[in-house]
Amino acid sequence: MVEEIREFSENVSDEKLETDVEKYVDLAKELGATDAKRISTDMIIVDERVRARCYSPRCPYYGTNLNCPPQFDWDLDKTREIVSKYRYGVFIMLQVPPEEQTGDYDNPKHPVPGARKMYEIVAKVQSAAFYDGYPLALGFAGGPSCKRVFCSAVECKGIKGERCRMALKSNPTMHSAGMDAYSMASKVGWKIYPIGKKTEPSQIKHGLELGLVLI
Ligand code: SF4
Repeated sequence: MVEEIREFSENVSDEKLETDVEKYVDLAKELGATDAKRISTDMIIVDERVRARCYSPRCPYYGTNLNCPPQFDWDLDKTREIVSKYRYGVFIMLQVPPEEQTGDYDNPKHPVPGARKMYEIVAKVQSAAFYDGYPLALGFAGGPSCKRVFCSAVECKGIKGERCRMALKSNPTMHSAGMDAYSMASKVGWKIYPIGKKTEPSQIKHGLELGLVLI
């Protein structure tokens, strides 16, 4: 039977909102997340240094798609302002094998299934909230940009003024919006490792993909 869509109400009680957010936490786990947590939006850390890392050293995806700077053009005060309008976030974590984020990672052909899965989990949680009467639910993926995950072999359609190929799956990443996902993960108790070109898979227990949906 097709589930009825709830009527929209601008007055959702605190209790109802908390119950719904917990439901999205459970949904993220059912969709395959290793863990997910309800966080209050004052736990979201926005830091100019995160955005600085898009520029220095210049990320190869800078300017290649709609969800990375400079096309994604919120300054970080805009991120802070937007975040402050929400009460809660569903913070989502997926552990991936170390091999996914080491070795030949910079090669666009290196597979990143965990990153793709995180985009999909975020999009599904965002969609569930939308149809529950939270039309302003807002998702942020983690890890590499949508260009790397969905369009590595083709040009971004969005920057040509056309509709994004993956409009219902692609979102800006937490870091393109200036959110310090590493610190946030550490604060909620998730083990996260700095992974760079020198990292050997045997040196870390896992890689992490992180995502966030504001409710
Ligand atoms: S077309 Fe591809 S690269 Fe461009 S915004 Fe959409 S998913 Fe990202």
